[in-house]
Amino acid sequence: MARINEEYLKLPGSYLFADIAHKVEAFKRAHPETEIIRLGIGDVTRPLPPSVIAALHKAVDEQATPEGFRGYGPEQGYAFLREAIAEGDFAPRGVEIDPADIFISDGAKGDLGNFQELFGRESVIAVTDPVYPVYVDSNVMAGRAGTFDEKAGSWSGIVYLPCTAENGFIPSLPAKRPDVIYLCLPNNPTGTALSRADLQRWVDYARANECLILFDAAYEAYIREEGIPHSIYELEGAREVAVEFRSFSKPAGFTGLRCGYVVVPETVRARSAEGRTVALKPLWNRRQTTKYNGCPYIVQRAAEAVYTPQGRREVRENVDYYMENAATIRSGLQEAGLEVYGGVNAPYIWLKTPGGMDSWTFFEVLLHELGIVGTPGVGFGPSGEGYFRLTAFGSHENTAKAMRRIAEAGHWSTWKKG
Ligand code: PLP
Repeated sequence: MARINEEYLKLPGSYLFADIAHKVEAFKRAHPETEIIRLGIGDVTRPLPPSVIAALHKAVDEQATPEGFRGYGPEQGYAFLREAIAEGDFAPRGVEIDPADIFISDGAKGDLGNFQELFGRESVIAVTDPVYPVYVDSNVMAGRAGTFDEKAGSWSGIVYLPCTAENGFIPSLPAKRPDVIYLCLPNNPTGTALSRADLQRWVDYARANECLILFDAAYEAYIREEGIPHSIYELEGAREVAVEFRSFSKPAGFTGLRCGYVVVPETVRARSAEGRTVALKPLWNRRQTTKYNGCPYIVQRAAEAVYTPQGRREVRENVDYYMENAATIRSGLQEAGLEVYGGVNAPYIWLKTPGGMDSWTFFEVLLHELGIVGTPGVGFGPSGEGYFRLTAFGSHENTAKAMRRIAEAGHWSTWKKG
């Protein structure tokens, strides 16, 4: 029999959202009359923008002609999209990115999960806590996480950087130097964004300590305030120490269509065992050309349409729509006496559970008493305990309805289960 990778056996039970789905299904069976409002999973609900649909149709029709047919494309992505990204996402912010440093993919999750393949098994990984689970789990699979402490909810080999109300959800620099630092800004799940000065501290730290920053900017389009960097490359020195991940999922509704990209500047380097510095870009290129045959042509044409003037307007409308929900949720929760964070530069609202309740108890209360589904903060890491995430990706109607239910439940600052 084949021997399995033992590291997979260390992964705790089921996935957070599977647990939630399970509980919601059980509730539905017991209470078929309750209309459930889902403000839990981070999937979008609005359809694809018309420009994207038009580009898809056109690209599909091209496939019916000998001249237009495309078979295998470049593993790194087509030049038309890589150029549109450099021009559309970076040049307007004063950042010059070589299209050759951009690698197109079928979404950020795969890139974020795969990138750790380039690091030695002994590399020390740091994550902010709470955190998007992919960073941790992919390093567990690679044998880099040590052992799991059930009680603490943490891995012995991973450096956790707590983000709580006490530090304004801004991670402190690690006490002990890690090799690789995952930063997600604007953050899922806390909804926090970092100012230029705060992010520059991380870049400076990474340069001084020879660390690599894996910067997840999947929610960049949701930044509303001035003074918040949209790309880590807006900061001095970042090109030497940072790789940036982006996604078409949340701005343009590509969660089902699938497209993302990673920027690996020529200048980002890591060390080999004998101390030589090695550029990461050729290694990522080697990895992708070996294991990946490219994002579909029609999808890349659809992504290109996002950068047309009309496409930009449509994406902006979608993002504005969700951010209206974020404002509705923020004010609804605040009026109900809850402590609320995020939702200003991100589609996520992070709230402190009332009355010192733990995250899963609050999940049960919201589901059983109000028919609202959210995500328990502890599912994102130990520092998420006592917090709860709601998302702005629902419809205006459902979001408003959920807030009415919360308002009718009374003032939560004095709330006790009963
Ligand atoms: N990064 C973060 C922080 C996310 O929350 C998500 C999706 O929820 C992703 C990446 C994945 O994006 P994609 O749909 O491009 O795989």
